[in-house]
Amino acid sequence: MIPRLYLPVDLETGTVVTADSRAAHYLRHVMRRAIGDPVVLFNGRDGEFTAEIADLGKRDVALAVHALRRRQCGVPDVWLCFAPLKKEAVDFLVEKATELGAAALQPVITQHTTTSRVNLERLRANAIEAAEQTERLTLPEIRPAVTLADLLRNWPVQRRLILCAEAGPATPIVDALSELKSSVTISNAWAILCGPEGGFARSELDLLSNLPFVTPVGLGPRILRADTAALTALAVFQSILGDGAQRPPAPLAPIGRTADAQAPD
Ligand code: SAM
Repeated sequence: MIPRLYLPVDLETGTVVTADSRAAHYLRHVMRRAIGDPVVLFNGRDGEFTAEIADLGKRDVALAVHALRRRQCGVPDVWLCFAPLKKEAVDFLVEKATELGAAALQPVITQHTTTSRVNLERLRANAIEAAEQTERLTLPEIRPAVTLADLLRNWPVQRRLILCAEAGPATPIVDALSELKSSVTISNAWAILCGPEGGFARSELDLLSNLPFVTPVGLGPRILRADTAALTALAVFQSILGDGAQRPPAPLAPIGRTADAQAPD
């Protein structure tokens, strides 16, 4: 399988770029690649390029950039706002939300949130790996944690907030999003908000449900774990209001030494 790497550098046909030790270790020791082997590169803004290993050092690797393989394209403008969770659950949530096309991940401290510490570097590394694997051309923005009060204080009112409400009035999510889809006044800026393991406080649900830009939704008769709920809502959003109906784009250029090389892993 062809390694696919995110590099935060300009990518242009005919240039040679240097990747860092993470890439060198991955190519040399994980994928056991050598000089001349094909690689696929993306940087989140110039599209995706075919390339090959020009030099492979211990600390870095030189990559010769060849052809544009896929033109740059983004994901729907949907933020996933979630209460910080235990390490395994938040790592899982970030990886899957990246695969599901979240544009930004916003940790939100609510009344029952059990942990307010968020390791942004680790979450960013998880998002890069997930974006490489899922063949995304962008990375989700991973934002510092804010309190629910601060989130709402600075909320851009044209952005519709889909509130996963485990209690109180709520419309089944498919009905709610289908209704929003048919509403012409809605802008294309969205967000999903999900509570912590201990759920939203009643006062939080009451406050949120009365805001004009909020749509409370139900996710069915069972109480889902916070990571399950957030990903369920994001998946349903993409199917109804996002890019769930699209197919992976066909590449513009073959990769590897022969045109029949396999797709990147
Ligand atoms: N209060 C319960 C508890 O103590 O375990 C459940 C909280 S639930 C694990 C965490 C979050 O997932 C909720 O705050 C809500 O945002 C979302 N959620 C879970 N089940 C849901 C449902 N059936 N409908 C809407 N949202 C749900």
